Amino acid sequence: MEGFVYLTEEDLIKAAKFLNQTPEEFEKLYVYRTRHQRRLRKPRGSQCGFLTETGCSIHPAKPTQCRLFPWWPHLLESRKEWEKTAKWCPGIGQGELVQIGEAHERAEEMKTAYPNFF
Ligand code: SF4
Repeated sequence: MEGFVYLTEEDLIKAAKFLNQTPEEFEKLYVYRTRHQRRLRKPRGSQCGFLTETGCSIHPAKPTQCRLFPWWPHLLESRKEWEKTAKWCPGIGQGELVQIGEAHERAEEMKTAYPNFF
C-alpha cells in the first residue's frame, strides 16, 4: 500500500511494547515525528517496513489507521474513492458484512485518533 502510516501516541507505545522495546527505542528506529504528527519511516512509494510475506508483522499492535481500514471517513463519504481503493485492495468486498452504523462508528474513531486530518 502506498501512502504514509500515521500513529497516535498510544499506537507508538503499543507497537513498542509488542516488539519489547521502549517507546523511545521504537521511535528512534521507526518513527518520523513532526510538530503535529508521527508516521512510520519509509521511503516514498515503498511498502511499509512491517509488511512481510505473511502479512503485518505487528498485527496485534498495528496502528489505528491500519486497524480501521477501510473505514476511513473520506472512503465512506465518497463512492468514487471507495471504488478506487477497492481496485488495489483485495480485502475490500471480502470478509464479514459490516453494518453501516458500525462503519460510521469506525470512521468517527479515525476522526478522533487523527484530529489534524479530518
Ligand atoms: S497493517 Fe502493518 S504492514 Fe500494513 S501498513 Fe499497517 S503497520 Fe504496515
